[in-house]
Amino acid sequence: MPIRRLPSHLVDRIAAGEVVERPASAVKELVENSLDAGATRIEIAVSADATSLIQVVDNGQGMEPDQMRLAVERHATSKLPGDDLLQICSFGFRGEALPAIASVSRFTLESRVRQAEPGASETGWRLVLDQGEPVHDGPAGLPIGTRITIEGLFARIPARAKFLKAPRTEIAAIADTVRRLAMAHPATAFRLLVDGRRLLDVAAESEAGVPGLARRVQALLPDGADMVPVDFGRALAFSADDGGPGWLAIGGLAGLPAASRATSEQQYLFVNGRPVKDRLLVGALRGAYAERLPAGRHAVAALFVALPTSDVDVNVHPAKTEVRFRDPQRVRGSLVTAVRQALEAAGIRPVAAASAALGAAFVSAPQPAGYNPQQWQLGGHVADAPMAWAGPQGRDPEALAQMAPAPWPAQFPLGTARGQIANAYIIAESADAMVLVDQHAAHERLVLEAMRGRAGAGPSAQPLLVPEAVTLDALACDALEAAAAELAGLGLELERFGPDAILVRSVPAVLGQPALGPLLRDLADELAAGDAPTALAARIEHVAATIACHGSVRAGRALSLAEMNGLLRQMEAVPASGTCNHGRPTFLRLTKADLERLFHRR
Ligand code: ADP
Ligand code: MG
Repeated sequence: MPIRRLPSHLVDRIAAGEVVERPASAVKELVENSLDAGATRIEIAVSADATSLIQVVDNGQGMEPDQMRLAVERHATSKLPGDDLLQICSFGFRGEALPAIASVSRFTLESRVRQAEPGASETGWRLVLDQGEPVHDGPAGLPIGTRITIEGLFARIPARAKFLKAPRTEIAAIADTVRRLAMAHPATAFRLLVDGRRLLDVAAESEAGVPGLARRVQALLPDGADMVPVDFGRALAFSADDGGPGWLAIGGLAGLPAASRATSEQQYLFVNGRPVKDRLLVGALRGAYAERLPAGRHAVAALFVALPTSDVDVNVHPAKTEVRFRDPQRVRGSLVTAVRQALEAAGIRPVAAASAALGAAFVSAPQPAGYNPQQWQLGGHVADAPMAWAGPQGRDPEALAQMAPAPWPAQFPLGTARGQIANAYIIAESADAMVLVDQHAAHERLVLEAMRGRAGAGPSAQPLLVPEAVTLDALACDALEAAAAELAGLGLELERFGPDAILVRSVPAVLGQPALGPLLRDLADELAAGDAPTALAARIEHVAATIACHGSVRAGRALSLAEMNGLLRQMEAVPASGTCNHGRPTFLRLTKADLERLFHRR
C-alpha cells in the first residue's frame, strides 16, 4: 500500500483518543483552559448521561473571533512563547484539546473579550463545528468570558462510545476531576451541575497560601474528615518559581489514621498546582502511613508539592497525570517526612513494629498439623462452640464463660488462650505449639463467612427498630442506591432518602450495631472504585469484606479469656479462617521445636 499523509480530521480523531478518553478528560481540558484564561468563576453543567451535553462557562479573558478559529486548529496554542518544554507554567501547551474534542462531537465555542479590538464584534462571537467541520461562524450576544458546549460526545464514533462506563461512573469521574482542580485553585469559584442538580459548589477563597487551601480542601472533602495540617520545607510558593534550584515545599492536609477509608479515592495529590495520580507520590504516601494503618486501609490526604518547574517534567503523559521528577528519591523522602512530622506533631505514633528477626522464626501456618475442621466438628467440640461471640456489641461474657470452659490445650488445634498482647493479639497454647492470633483479622474473617451464610441458609438481616437516615454526598447515595439489591443480599437493606441521604432499614445480623455513617461511606468508596460490570462477583466479595471489617473487633480492645477462647473455637469451626479477608494469615504457630531453635537449644 502506498504511503499517504493522513487528512487532518483523522489526525484529530487519533489525537482525541489520547486527549479525550472519556467525558471527564474533556471536562479537565476545558476547565484547565478556563484557569489558564484567568477565570475567577467556572461553571460546569453536564447531562445525567455524561455525553449528550457538557458545558463549561468561564469569566476569563475571552478570545477574539480570529483566535477562536485558530484555537480549533491542531497545535495552535497561545501558551508556549518560546520552545522550552520544561518552562511550562500554564496547564495547556499542546494545542490539541479543542480540535480533538471538536472532532468527536458537535462543538460550540462562544467567547467575548473584555476590550474588543476596534472594528471587531462588541458582543462576542460564536463558532460551531460538527465532527470537526465548521458549520457556523458569526456574531452572538454574550457576557465576557468563554462558553464551550459539547453535544453528543462520541455519538457518531460507536467504537469510542462502546468503551464508556455506566453514566454514574462517568459522572463520578467528572466530579472527581472538578474536585481535584477546585482544590488546587482556591481563588476560583467552582460549580458543577448534573441535570441541574448541584454536585459541587464552592465560593472563591480570599485568603492566600495554606489557610485558603486548607479551607477549600475541607469544603470539598465528603464530610470534613479529621485531618492535620502539613507544612514542610520553605514557605509555600505554589506558583512562583523564585527559590532557585533545589527548593521543595509540601503543604496541605493529611488524614488521621482513624479516618482512613477502604480505597485510595480520597487521596488528592498535586504537583505545582496540577492534579496528578503519580505512582511515586502515591507510594510515598502509603509509606508515610505504613505502620499507622492496617493493610487495605487508605489515608485521606490532600497534598501539594511545589518545586522549581525545571525540576519536574509534566510533559510525559498526554493527560499529564504522571510527572517525572529530576530527583525522585528526594521528592519521595520529603513527602514521607512531611506527613510523618505532621502526624507525630498530632501525637499519632506507629504501633511498635514487630521484630523482623522473630517474625521470620515464626512459621505461618494456615493449616496447622492435625488441623482438620471436619474432624473437630464431628468430635462435637466445635458444634457447641460459643457462637454468641458476635463482636463488640453482641458479646455476653457470662454466657461465654459458661460455654467456653478452659479446656486442655491438647483438646483444640488452636489451643487455650493464655493472654493478650498489645490488646491486639491473643496468645494461646496448644499441645505442641504457641499460637499467636491477630484478633481483628481473625474476627473479620469469621464475620465475612457468617455474612455469606452457612450451608446456603443465607445471611440474616437484623431490622432496625427505627430506620436510620445517614447523610452522604449525592454521588455516594447514587452508588449505594444502585447496589441496593446486592447489599440486601448481604443483609444490608437501604433505601434512597432524598437527594443526599440513605435510609438504613436492616443490617447484617452478625454485625451487631455498627456505626452506620462510616460503614456506608466505606461501601460507597468501594462501589465507586470497582465499577466494572464484568467483575460483579469480585465486587460483592469486596463489599462483603468491607462490611465485615466494620463488624469486627478492632485491634486495641481488651478481651476476657472467655472471649478469646470463644474466638479460637469459632476459628476452628470455619475452614477458611486461616487467612483474613485481605489474604494475610490470621494466626501464626511457633512449635516447641521452633522455640528451642530460637533459644539455641537445638
Ligand atoms: P492549549 O490549552 O494546549 O493551548 P487548547 O486546544 O486547549 O490548547 O486551546 C487552544 C487555545 O485556545 C489556547 O491556547 C487558548 O489561547 C485558547 N483558549 C481555549 N480555551 C479558552 C478559554 N476558556 N478562554 C480563553 N482562551 C481559550
Ligand atoms: Mg488546553
